Amino acid sequence: MRRQIVAGNWKMNKTYPEALALVNELATDLQNNPVSNVEVIVAPPFPYLAALSDKKGDAIQLSAQNCHQKDSGAFTGEVSATMLASVGCEYVILGHSERRQYFQEDSMLLEQKLKAALAAGLKPIFCCGESLEQREQEIHFDFVAQQLKDGLFHLSNEEFDKVIIAYEPIWAIGTGRTASSEQAQEMHEFIREQVSRAYDAEAALKTPILYGGSCNAQNAKELFACKDVDGGLIGGAALKSADFLTIIRSFQ
Ligand code: PEP
Repeated sequence: MRRQIVAGNWKMNKTYPEALALVNELATDLQNNPVSNVEVIVAPPFPYLAALSDKKGDAIQLSAQNCHQKDSGAFTGEVSATMLASVGCEYVILGHSERRQYFQEDSMLLEQKLKAALAAGLKPIFCCGESLEQREQEIHFDFVAQQLKDGLFHLSNEEFDKVIIAYEPIWAIGTGRTASSEQAQEMHEFIREQVSRAYDAEAALKTPILYGGSCNAQNAKELFACKDVDGGLIGGAALKSADFLTIIRSFQ
């Protein structure tokens, strides 16, 4: 059976006391009612990572939302993968559509970021997904295939082994409009096929592919029941412990 994963992307939300309270609520609940079949990851803003690493407990793993492509140096305001690993991060989200859109991150840059993350021992959560316009033009499969080819499939088999893929249709992110379970399943199956072609059937079978885009406490069960959906990358609904815990417990 493939790994089942629920990851919360907090984006630029929460003060430090609020972040502490949220992690504390999650950790307490997961300690009292452990989930054995789901890996839980949270991705808080940079300044909170070191402290939350001490406070999150064993049931939660820590991710960053981004990293710089260089290891160290004169890059004012940036944070390297090595720094993230040194404060207890295990994952880093790369290629999120907001980074691509607002920070002009393209596949060439993402290639460097992936390499830096892997070299530092971080496991990448690589995001892909089409815009509404691309879906309406029916070029969404081609577009996602190209994103994977350009941004991800340059990795060696050994490197790719560490990757989690997140399919996040841009039109569903933060919009309240989620992909139907049919739309999610067909794209996840397609992504798995691309992995099989780029690597092999075994890699395709074991790579976790998460769905992201207005996934919430109400629709998670139906989405997670899809054969090729191995969990979710959750934005808005990860900011409230009750909602996030319901999503974590949405696997059949
Ligand atoms: C995201 O940005 O990764 C995301 C899935 O956001 P939301 O759940 O709020 O749509």
